[in-house]
Amino acid sequence: MMGGHHAATGAAAWVAVTASTPIAFGWYPVSDASVFTGALVCAGAALLPDADHHSGTIANSLKPVSNGVVKVIETLSGGHRKGTHSILGVAVFTAIAWALGFLSIDTGDDRFGAILIGPGIMCVLLVSFALKALKITRDTKVLPWTMSVTLAVLIAIFAPEEWYWMPFSVALGCIVHILGDMITTAGVPLLWPLKFRSPYWMRNKRGIELDMFWRSGGNIAIPILGNAGSVREWIFLVPVSLYAIVGIVWAILNEMGYDTMAVWNQVVALVPA
Ligand SMILES: [Zn+2]
Repeated sequence: MMGGHHAATGAAAWVAVTASTPIAFGWYPVSDASVFTGALVCAGAALLPDADHHSGTIANSLKPVSNGVVKVIETLSGGHRKGTHSILGVAVFTAIAWALGFLSIDTGDDRFGAILIGPGIMCVLLVSFALKALKITRDTKVLPWTMSVTLAVLIAIFAPEEWYWMPFSVALGCIVHILGDMITTAGVPLLWPLKFRSPYWMRNKRGIELDMFWRSGGNIAIPILGNAGSVREWIFLVPVSLYAIVGIVWAILNEMGYDTMAVWNQVVALVPA
C-alpha cells in the first residue's frame, strides 16, 4: 500500500476506535481533542513499519533525525518489509512508545507539572511522517520541523493529559499498516523472524492458487486489493479517507462547542426508514 494510503487508514482507524459519535465504535474512548490530534499521530504511526528503508519517503521526512532513525530500524529489522511488518515488530514499536512515556522533566511548577519529553519526541517524528506521506511537506528542510514541532506543542497544550494514548496509537497504526500491506499481493512476514516457506507443490499451480495467500518466501497475503498502488487500492481509499475527514471535522466541531448531534439527528430524519 502507498504511504499516503497508509496514513489515511491510520487516521480512519483512530477515528473509528476512539470517537464516541454515531459513526464510530468508541471502543477506546478519548476526548474530542484527542480524536483529532490522535488521528494525526496514528496516521504517522501507520507509516512507522515502512521506516525500514533508507531511500523511502519516511527517511526523508524529518532530516537528519528521520534518516538516522530509519537506518537503525533498517539494520535491526533485517531490511524492507521484514521485522517491522510482523507481530514482533508491533510489540517492539509499542514497547518503545510505552517506555518513552516515562521520559519527562519535572518543572517543579504546579502550573506546568511534568513536561513529557519522550511522548513529545515521538509525536514530532510521527507527525512529520504523516505530513510527508500526505505531501503537505515536500523536500524542504525547515517546514517539516516547524510544522511537526508546532503540532506537537499544540497537542501538548490542547490535550496535555492525553499522552497516555501514545502506545495505543502506535500499536493501532502499526497493525493497520500491516493489514494494509497484507491485502496486497506481496503480503507480510507476520511471524518474523520465523519463516515458513510454502510447500513446493503449492506454487505455480493452475486452478486454486494457494500461493496467492501463502507466498513462496513465507509471507502471508489476502490480496483483495491486488498490487500496491492499484486502481482497486485507490477506490478503496476514497471512502476510508472521507470517513477519516468526517470523523476529524466532527471532533473539532464538538471541541468548539457546536451541537453536532442535533445536525446528525436532522440528517438521520431525512433518510427514509
Ligand atoms: Zn509496508
